[in-house]
Amino acid sequence: MPRVSAYPMVSVAEAAQMILERAQPLGTERVALKDARGRFLAQDITADEDLPGLPRSSVDGYAVIAGDDAQALEVLEEVTAGRLAHAQVRRGTAVRIMTGGTLPPGADAVVMVEEVEETNGHAVLQHRPRAGENVHPPGMDLTRGQGVLEAGSRIGAAELGLLATVGCTQVPVWRKPRVAVLATGDELVEPDQVPPPGSVRDSNRYALMAATQEAGAEIAWHAHALDDEGELERAMRTGLDSADVLLTSGGVSMGTRDLIKPLLETMATIHFGRVSFKPGKPLTFATTREGKLAFGLPGFPVSSLVTFEVFVRPALLKLGGAANVQRPRVEVELEHEIRTDAVRPEYQRAMVRWHNGKFTARTTGLQSSSRLMSIVGANALLELDPGGETLPEGTMVRALLLANL
Ligand code: AMP
Ligand code: MG
Repeated sequence: MPRVSAYPMVSVAEAAQMILERAQPLGTERVALKDARGRFLAQDITADEDLPGLPRSSVDGYAVIAGDDAQALEVLEEVTAGRLAHAQVRRGTAVRIMTGGTLPPGADAVVMVEEVEETNGHAVLQHRPRAGENVHPPGMDLTRGQGVLEAGSRIGAAELGLLATVGCTQVPVWRKPRVAVLATGDELVEPDQVPPPGSVRDSNRYALMAATQEAGAEIAWHAHALDDEGELERAMRTGLDSADVLLTSGGVSMGTRDLIKPLLETMATIHFGRVSFKPGKPLTFATTREGKLAFGLPGFPVSSLVTFEVFVRPALLKLGGAANVQRPRVEVELEHEIRTDAVRPEYQRAMVRWHNGKFTARTTGLQSSSRLMSIVGANALLELDPGGETLPEGTMVRALLLANL
């Protein structure tokens, strides 16, 4: 068993750059509006019409001429949303109008129903409006030809509403990356089994599949393989053949059964095999001749999910066409002291909250790379520079926000 890795150590920034420059969007397709949620737009979208197209009342009331000083106005008719007026408003007249109704010709203001007394077909205004009052002019919300959504934006509720508004029913989106997930290890059993002595349930496969889907990608294939060279090689090739990205977990350390790196060497080019990063130093990244990406993630459950979060998620987002692949960063104040790692930047799992007028953070307890409970409930990763010193309570540190606070 060699005691020194053959792979040079790269920094977090170098690793991220090597990955992102090799992750390019995969191609486009059109999906029906109702299926577009969570996808990334492949084209800029513009408004096809002014909205509103005609001046529109923003309240229930009476459409009048702003300068009209007649005592009582004859009510000519009623206009509701979607129906145009027949009459022309002249001095001495008004049209009863409902919210969303198109302003009748001649009128230039609407007085709210609460400020009008109507008796025997005549309206007495208790308030003299200024021109344009309670009227939404044409193009107030959108103007024809205006850019409304940019390529690379994620389609959420508001974006979907806007696509519907501008009549974009076959939405141009980037294709979802297809991902193969392979858990490796002789000690793994399926989650529905009781592990015999010395074994553990395979949690990484399920956690990584969920993280993949949360990053907007889809699972093309998944499996478990034993630490057997022939079986592993077949599984890795099948995974690569079925997907754009292969994620393996386990088997990237220095042990005698850690076979992922040598096998990757036979089917791809390894760009790095070690990162100065905690948890998850042995993270490995390779690409095939066809440009597929392969990540050898460490086996410890926390290491595999944290390396996914910091290195794989941005790659999947970029492959999937996202313009923004980074989590937001904020500065947070430590609620308790933290000891930093001597040499590696460390990503500690934490709970960030808004407390007494600022963001503060406390970690999730023991930060062991085997302890999934250190991620459960975390909404941030504290990005701690190395140095090996104790940061006192109150120190400001960077945090990557993972979820809603
Ligand atoms: P390895 O990197 O293969 O040496 O794995 C390190 C440790 O991570 C193993 O001893 C297991 O306890 C754990 N581990 C590896 N793969 C998984 C998995 N798929 N699910 C849960 N734990 C795992
Ligand atoms: Mg293993």
